[in-house]
Amino acid sequence: MHQNNVVAEVKNLKVYYDMGDRTIRAVDGIDFTIREGDCFAIVGESGSGKSTLGLSLIRLCPGKVSGEIIVDGVDLMKLSDEEIRKFRCSKISIIFQEPSSALNPVMKIGEQLMEVFTVHGYSKSEAYERSVKLLKTVGIPEAEKRMQSYPHQLSGGMKQRVIIAMAIALNPRLVIADEPTSALDVTIQAQILNLLKNLTKSYGLSTILITHDMGVAAEICNRIGIMYAGKMVEVGELESIFSNPMHPYTRALMTCIPRGLKGLLKPLPGHVPDLSNPPEGCRFHPRCPYAKDVCKKEEPKPLHLDDRLVLCHRVGEI
Ligand code: SF4
Repeated sequence: MHQNNVVAEVKNLKVYYDMGDRTIRAVDGIDFTIREGDCFAIVGESGSGKSTLGLSLIRLCPGKVSGEIIVDGVDLMKLSDEEIRKFRCSKISIIFQEPSSALNPVMKIGEQLMEVFTVHGYSKSEAYERSVKLLKTVGIPEAEKRMQSYPHQLSGGMKQRVIIAMAIALNPRLVIADEPTSALDVTIQAQILNLLKNLTKSYGLSTILITHDMGVAAEICNRIGIMYAGKMVEVGELESIFSNPMHPYTRALMTCIPRGLKGLLKPLPGHVPDLSNPPEGCRFHPRCPYAKDVCKKEEPKPLHLDDRLVLCHRVGEI
């Protein structure tokens, strides 16, 4: 790995929710690195903690967060509320699943987009010019006219394009996209994915794509992290993981993908454990066909094999 092109480093990240009588350990000691130009997919079933992870990376998570989140050399955990507000958009931004709830319904698209610039010191005329240019970049026709539209006058796909425009407006180092196409119909999904793919290349963006859909990950990502019950159980290059999945959970996910790389994760037998009371040892052991006694007692330690990280006692044996 080239350390000099590292954009983000996440070290021992934990997110706990205190529920009074119990603590939900939604993210429980996660490490990964994002390099320049990476599109890193975080894939897992519902309840794996992946959306909590995404929110915590931009310090928008209501839970108790600990660990290090270093973006562009700055540990976000050490920033004040004021500093993190400035850091958002300029260095790190997020695209949410539901574009309607991310836009202000009573403000025109143009005003919302221009605000991203004016808050960061641009004049109104510069903000206007840049906003129009951005709308064109993300494929919105009649950009000047659309600046005057309210969110409800745009289709779901167009709204998501506006959100993407806002996310890339200030050329951030890292963009987090949390299920960016789940709320859209299939044709529009493909267009938005294509847009993200092209922007990642042309803007040299580094992206984290959170998804439950292996097909989406395969479509635009070059690296992948598989998340299970608050842990990252396997991390590596996408092609390498698809051709040789080492963790039994990754293997199980692969067998649930119909027609090669495409398709949604079908439910696996069993379910993701209650994160306030996860199983002892390896959290996957109740669902793992390869589980041995040691798996029920001892938590596996991360094993680094070239560019791969695997959390399993039985790597090499299976
Ligand atoms: Fe399965 Fe054991 Fe590996 Fe966990 S540590 S994934 S239970 S083989």
